[in-house]
Amino acid sequence: MRQTTASTCCYCGVGCGVLIEHDETRIFDVAGDPDHPANFGRLCSKGSTLHLTGDLDARALHPELRLGKQLGRTRTDWDSALEHAAEIFAETILEHGPDSVAFYISGQLLTEDYYAFNKLARALVGTNNIDSNSRLCMSSAVVGYKRSLGADAPPCAYEDIEQSHCVLIAGSNMAYAHPVLFRRLEEAKARRPEMNIIVIDPRRTDTAGLADLHLAIRPGTDVALFHGLLHLLIRDDRLDQAFIEAHTQGFDALKVLAEEYTPTIVAELCGISVEALQRCARMIGSAPSFLSLWCMGLNQSTSGSAKNSALINLHLATGQIGRPGAGPFSLTGQPNAMGGRETGSLSNLLPGHREAGDPQHRAEVAEHWGVKQLPTSAGLSAIELFEAVGDGRIKALWIACTNPAQSLPNQQKVHQALAACPFVVVQEAFFTTETCRYADLLLPAVSWGEKEGTVTNSERRVSHVRRAIAAPGEARPDWAIACDFARRLERRLRPGQPSLFAFEDPEALFEEYKPLTRYRDLDLSGLSYRLLDERGPQQWPFPRDSSTGTVRLYRDGVFPTEDGRARFIAEAFQASEQDCDTRFPLVLNTGRLRDQWHGMSRTGTAARLFGHEEAAVLSLHPDEMRRRRLQDGQLVRVDSRRGSLILPARQDESLQHGQAFLPMHWGDRFLRGLGINVLTQASFDPLSRQPALKQAGVQVEAVELPWPFFALVEGQVQHRFEALRPLFEGFEYASFSLAGRDRAALVIRAATRSVPDAELLKVIDRLLNLAEGPVLAYDDAHRSVGKRVRLEHGRIVALRLAGETAASQWLKSLWLDGEIDPDLRRWLLAPLSTAPHGKRVENDRTLCNCMNIGQAAVHAGIAQGLDLAGLKQRLGCGTSCGSCVPEIKRLLAQAEAPIRV
Ligand code: SF4
Repeated sequence: MRQTTASTCCYCGVGCGVLIEHDETRIFDVAGDPDHPANFGRLCSKGSTLHLTGDLDARALHPELRLGKQLGRTRTDWDSALEHAAEIFAETILEHGPDSVAFYISGQLLTEDYYAFNKLARALVGTNNIDSNSRLCMSSAVVGYKRSLGADAPPCAYEDIEQSHCVLIAGSNMAYAHPVLFRRLEEAKARRPEMNIIVIDPRRTDTAGLADLHLAIRPGTDVALFHGLLHLLIRDDRLDQAFIEAHTQGFDALKVLAEEYTPTIVAELCGISVEALQRCARMIGSAPSFLSLWCMGLNQSTSGSAKNSALINLHLATGQIGRPGAGPFSLTGQPNAMGGRETGSLSNLLPGHREAGDPQHRAEVAEHWGVKQLPTSAGLSAIELFEAVGDGRIKALWIACTNPAQSLPNQQKVHQALAACPFVVVQEAFFTTETCRYADLLLPAVSWGEKEGTVTNSERRVSHVRRAIAAPGEARPDWAIACDFARRLERRLRPGQPSLFAFEDPEALFEEYKPLTRYRDLDLSGLSYRLLDERGPQQWPFPRDSSTGTVRLYRDGVFPTEDGRARFIAEAFQASEQDCDTRFPLVLNTGRLRDQWHGMSRTGTAARLFGHEEAAVLSLHPDEMRRRRLQDGQLVRVDSRRGSLILPARQDESLQHGQAFLPMHWGDRFLRGLGINVLTQASFDPLSRQPALKQAGVQVEAVELPWPFFALVEGQVQHRFEALRPLFEGFEYASFSLAGRDRAALVIRAATRSVPDAELLKVIDRLLNLAEGPVLAYDDAHRSVGKRVRLEHGRIVALRLAGETAASQWLKSLWLDGEIDPDLRRWLLAPLSTAPHGKRVENDRTLCNCMNIGQAAVHAGIAQGLDLAGLKQRLGCGTSCGSCVPEIKRLLAQAEAPIRV
């Protein structure tokens, strides 16, 4: 029987509520929860397609064990799998010490999962070697909040976005990365056009399209900019002296530092005009309320902590904190990175916003857990942890719900480390991730819709995540796997003692965890699953006996520091570590796309989500393209000090000279060559230890690969993907994607220097279902050109072009339309390789995923004089989730722009 379960979206830190329609075994649909205060019923293109993702063919369904690095994994049962893991971990710990093992976990885990892993690592194993992929995402914000305000607590609420008079967005393409919040901002701006929006971003993103002022600063110069703004606020007497005197300390030192950041110097450093800088300072200084939002552009930097503190300085100096519409507000990347920070899931933290390096904090947690002591040695952060795996210090590694073989920088090193590690356990929902290849033990975990627990979103709001359907195969909840393993390990490490992991369900973990937050800044002691069910999601602190959560922090100007005062941080701007030089002259920035999420383990299973961007493409300023004599779509080789990639390039006027951009999502699975992060650098911020994923020096040059290949095949997409991918190892370029809406197809684009072996093509054809049956074929051995199309029931179901691919878009459009062009047979059986005359089809990106509207239709509507309202009315685009609206506005603006001559 169909029913609806209220839960949350599993992607970003907005933490939208979703209503899952299901019958306890299958999920049929998803809708925004109108009662959830994060989204009030809205969902973005990712959230609204959740039910289309998570293809069972990509799911890990049974434990699998490998008993030798040269061997394949074979299916095993849970009991054998966890006994084996416990045996190896125990032996390693007893022989090499507790710091010879490590846990690398994820911002996608639920709070209860995190808590179980933390207790396992620190109380049982006795190591602080537990870090999470939040290290790549939010750790600079954590340092920023702690240093400036005394606790890792974002002080604002989403309603502040709607109430603010001036919103500054720094280093965040919020339109793509936090779309539902961006919708709320767009609506607020439409209601109150006098609201000022400032966007600081080297790229002119869709977010910048909403800005009254866009400062396209040089990458990495944010600290200079913020100090320059402070300089002007001081000069123009725009400070809140009463607030500074009553609630802060350290302003005098900062004032001296800010004197050096004159408008001329700052404008020069940042590559902007003095007028723009002054206008920005005026907007901030005159605003009754000033809110700042930021994300990876500040955090993923070797000066990420300094950037965070310099921005918070502006709020403290103007008293813009603890009031409606005001405050510094980080946009959390992952759905429960906040829960990870709360439970101590970075190596330097402990549960309840405590410090692993603080003896008092260690004693408090040890007492709560009933153990003598917690480990004193410093734990390794993500980059250091994988270095230690690489050099043999870590001998057993447990990875849960994350994909380091895609997401960490400097992937050559990461892949080498994983290959060399004596024992790698991967606890994953999808067996297809790059990291799973290295698993000696693969443990199937439940995924979205199948698990219960809690999450905290960016505004400190805790939601009850409810299970809708049963887990597929033998998949188990992450907390249950961690606790089952822990019970087996404690029988070996502390035999005869009562178990620390006798948890029956996630609620038991939550109940044990929440006293650790009592009387602390994040006090959750008043929350329970029951209360969340009765009263809905709540913002912490929510102390025992309270009737409601806390919308906004620091309303009284008292901060969780020893003296109750916030701190000004006076740190000079330091140019980031230079990865660029004459050999690698371009700065490579990486970031998100609208419809993909992280390493694509989930979104990469939904064909519809490839409609907007089908493949990884390097974006360059048109002048950089011209300088290298590159055409749109031409293959280029991108080199950094650490590795290289081959992929197509395209011009993009949103970038500045000297800059390049790549989407962060593509790993080795979808793009041959270890993925985007083979290029990025592992240098990290000295305080937050967050790597500078957004600033790599690269060199770009055209590459000649004269033998191209294109294929499309529908049916059994995941199986075909797994079987075909290894066959393209010998190709210099190979990109895999999905296409379609009602029917899904695997699409392969590849190119190589020399014609591949005929036998390899035969194998590929067999896997493409093109070796026999109703297949039309043409081969020209002399030109090494061949084409094959399989027709069934009057339509194309598979095709491939080899040696010449000029007709690929035309054929793909025929497949999408499900019709047979009368010219197809004639074309197929003749030497002609381009599409027949008049049939040339350009790749038409899907702009609006909800209504399936392509860019061509929008362009045509604009050419007929339609505005946004007219396009919405005529085509329906932008009327559902709204994720495409910023791009449609951009196309409208481009159409209005004067033609340059
Ligand atoms: Fe999910 Fe989109 Fe909401 Fe983020 S904004 S939680 S991805 S629906």
